[in-house]
Amino acid sequence: STPTAVMTGVGRGAQLGVLIKGAPALEAISKIDTIIFDKTGTLTSGKAEIVDIGLIHPDWDRQSLLKLAASLEGLSEHHIAKAITRAATKEGISWELASEWKSIVGIGIEGMVNGNKAYIGNKSVLKYLNMEVNDVISNKQNHWNDQGHTTIFIVYNQTLVGMMAIDDPIRQKAIATIRELKSKRIKDIRMATGDNEYVAKRIASELEIDHVYASLLPHEKLDIVKELQSVGKKVLMIGDGINDAPALMQADVGVAMGKTGTDVAIEAADIALLSDAIEKIPLALQLSKRTVTTIK
Ligand code: ADP
Ligand code: MG
Repeated sequence: STPTAVMTGVGRGAQLGVLIKGAPALEAISKIDTIIFDKTGTLTSGKAEIVDIGLIHPDWDRQSLLKLAASLEGLSEHHIAKAITRAATKEGISWELASEWKSIVGIGIEGMVNGNKAYIGNKSVLKYLNMEVNDVISNKQNHWNDQGHTTIFIVYNQTLVGMMAIDDPIRQKAIATIRELKSKRIKDIRMATGDNEYVAKRIASELEIDHVYASLLPHEKLDIVKELQSVGKKVLMIGDGINDAPALMQADVGVAMGKTGTDVAIEAADIALLSDAIEKIPLALQLSKRTVTTIK
C-alpha cells in the first residue's frame, strides 16, 4: 500500500545515509530530469587549503597577512574562512576578531581591524571598492586561475595588501557520480557557483559538466532553477551553503550536504545527505523510482 511503500522508501534511504524529509520529496525525485550542482563544498571536498600567498605590499609579510585574514574570517563558516584560520593556527599566529564584522554576499567579509576598515574576498571586492589592479596582480590571478585555484584579495585601509590562492580539491566520488547519473536517465547536469568562471570551468571540465554558471549571487542561483522549471524541467538542486538555500527551496527536489553543509541549507532542503556522500544521489533516484512503482 502507499504509506507502507513510502515508509519503506524513507526508511531504506535513512539506512543508506539519505535523509528524505517526506513522501512528496520521495515521489518528486522519480520525475527529475535535470540536476544542478553547487561547486564549492558540494563537488569539491570543502577541505580547502591556502597553497600560495602573494605578498604585494612592503609593509605586509606572510605572518601579518595571515593574522589580518584570520581576524576577518574568524566568524565565517565558509570553507575559505576555515582554511585561513586553520593555517594561522598552524603557524602559531594569534588574532583578535574584527569588529563591525559584516559578510557581503558573493563578495566576502568586511570588518574593522586596528581602527581601519579591511576586506577579504574575491575580485568583486576590488570592484566594490572601486580599486584598480595592475598587471602584476592580474598575471598572478591568471596564473592561479590556470591551476584551478580560487584567488582571494585582502584590502586594508583602501590598499590591496595581499592575495591568497585557495585550492579545494574535487570530491573523490564526484566524477563517478556524474557519469553514473548520465548513464541513468539524467542527461542534463549543470554547475552553479559563486566562484569565478575560470575556476568553475576548470572544475567542470574535469567533471565532464558542460553547462556552467559562475560568479552567481544567491538570487541568481534561484533564477536559474526557475528558468529551467519554466521550460518544463524537473530540477534537483544540490548544495551546501547559505547562498544555495533559495535555490534549494525552489527546486523540485533540494538536496543538502548533511555533514558540512550550513544549517540554512539543510533546513531549506528536502533531502540531507549524511556524511556528504554525493555518490548516494543515484541511489536515491533508484529508491524513489521503486517506491513510486510500488504505489502504482
Ligand atoms: P559556491 O557557490 O561554489 O559554493 P561560494 O558562494 O561559497 O561558492 O563562494 C563564492 C566565492 O565568494 C568564493 O569563491 C570566494 O571568492 C567568495 N567568498 C565567499 N565567502 C567568502 C569568505 N568568507 N571569505 C573569502 N571569500 C569568500
Ligand atoms: Mg557551496
